[in-house]
This record gives sequence, structure tokens and C-alpha cells, in this order.
Amino acid sequence: MEDNHGGGPNMPTSAVPVAVVTGASSGIGAATARRLASDGFHVVLGARRLDRIQALAAEINGSAYHLDVTDQLSVDDFCARVPACRVLVNNAGGAYGLDPVSSADVEAWAAMYEVNVLGVVRMTKALLPALVASGAGDVVLVGSTAGMGVYEGGGGYTAAKHGAHVVAETLRLELVGRPVRVMVVAPGMVATEEFSLNRFDGDRLRAESVYAGVREPLVADDIAGCIAWMVTRPHHVNVDLLVVRPLAQAAHKVHRES
Ligand code: NDP
Repeated sequence: MEDNHGGGPNMPTSAVPVAVVTGASSGIGAATARRLASDGFHVVLGARRLDRIQALAAEINGSAYHLDVTDQLSVDDFCARVPACRVLVNNAGGAYGLDPVSSADVEAWAAMYEVNVLGVVRMTKALLPALVASGAGDVVLVGSTAGMGVYEGGGGYTAAKHGAHVVAETLRLELVGRPVRVMVVAPGMVATEEFSLNRFDGDRLRAESVYAGVREPLVADDIAGCIAWMVTRPHHVNVDLLVVRPLAQAAHKVHRES
């Protein structure tokens, strides 16, 4: 039987606020887990690669449980271990491929919708009662500038991220008057180890070319800092949408040095 338990101590029963971070095994999710732990949260990390999140949980005194946001049973099992929750960071996601619509891999499009949209819906549904019960809950969605515009070859990912943004906007309307903020951070180009590697199916050269010549793309910790800032504002301050790009990027235009 799979060991779902993590490397950190059990969930605190004290007043320590709990933050759940999905996709915490790499990139923005791992950086956010670190940031929130240093800001005083007990962080519950979820991802499919349990070894990675166990190691990080041990480092930051958090908890780590296996999570596949595309699998309802996995979400149920994960959330059953989270009795209290003040912050949910819906970060798990990704882009698969860069094909034009004319040759779209429909299965890849479906997979992007599953993880970027339905994953958010499953996690938010499951943890909403705990977030409301906290009296000051936060749902943070790691959206994207791909949720606000389009580019050639990006249709599957931009459609999914637009969908994720729409989920957040709808949820915010539905929750108005209740003690839960719904916030979206929309990063532009962030140089994380795996995002482009996953997009190009492990093709390292192609992945590296995404950031070629860009003097300072954002890094995961830049976005983690934004998320930490958003969730530590006084609770009547709801940062609806925070768009963050590197200096070298304006909308879809990227400055590259040769
Ligand atoms: P990474 O590929 O480094 O991280 C993605 C994370 O999601 C991993 O921890 C992965 O863990 C997890 N994940 C993927 N599928 C699932 C799943 N089915 N269930 C649970 N966890 C899953 O990418 P980034 O850190 O760059 O991206 C994080 C988020 O930020 C994504 O939503 C992405 O769309 C968004 N974003 C990224 C940008 C960028 O330029 N990098 C720009 C704008 C937004 P595991 O494989 O262990 O499950």
C-alpha cells in the first residue's frame, strides 16, 4: 500500500494557520511553500512526486501527502487529511505542447483542462468548508498572462488558463459576503526548471530556448513573494488579480539580448 504520509510532523492543533499548496514539488509551488512557512504557516504540500514534497516538508516543518488534482479520489484522500485550512494555493498546472489549432493534440488539450481548470475546481470544492470555517480564508489561483491573451500555438494552454481565471471570477461573485477572498496571480515568463521541459516533452534544448537571451526572467521565488504578500494583506483587502511580468517582457513582446 502506498505510503501517503509526509516527512513533516502531524497537522498542528494550535492556532498556527494552515496553507495548502498544490504542485509543491517544484517551481512556483515549492517556492511558495517555503515562503509561506517562513511567514508562519504550517504548509501542507501536495503533488504526485511524494519523495520531493516529503523532503521539502521535512525542511520547512510542514506536511506532505500524495495528490493528483486530476483524480477525485486522490483529492478526497488528500483533503481528508486537512482538517483546518486558512489558505489554498491552487498552483498545480502546466502546458503540454505548442501545436496550432489545425494540428491540435486533443488529448493534450483535455489534459491541460483537467489539471489547470478542473483541478482547481476539485480542490476548491473540497476545502471551501474549511476555508469558510477559518473565518478568514483565501483561495489563491496561479493563473497566467496566458489567461488574459492568446498566442500562436498556445490555444490549448491559453484556453485552459482563461478557464481557470473564469472559475476564480465566478467563485468571487458567489462568495461575496462570506469570509473567503479569491485572488489570482497571473505571471508572465517565469524560468522554472520543469514548466517548459514538460511543455516540450523533455526536449531540453527547446525548453531552454524559451528563456534564451532574456536578461532576467522571473524566477519562482518572485511569484512566491507575490503570493505571500497577497495572503498577508489585512483580510478586507482582496487582490483580485495581480499581473506580474519580468522587465524584459511587455505583453507578448520579449526583449532578448544576443
Ligand atoms: P512546474 O512544472 O515546475 O510545476 C508544476 C507543478 O504542478 C509540479 O509541482 C507538479 O508536480 C504539479 N502537478 C502537475 N500535474 C499535477 C497533478 N495532476 N496533480 C498535482 N500536482 C500536479 O511549473 P511552474 O512552477 O512553472 O508552474 C506552476 C504554475 O504556474 C502552473 O499552474 C503554471 O501553469 C503556472 N504558470 C507558470 C509560468 C511559467 O512561465 N513557468 C507562467 C505563468 C503561470 P508533480 O509532477 O510532482 O505532480
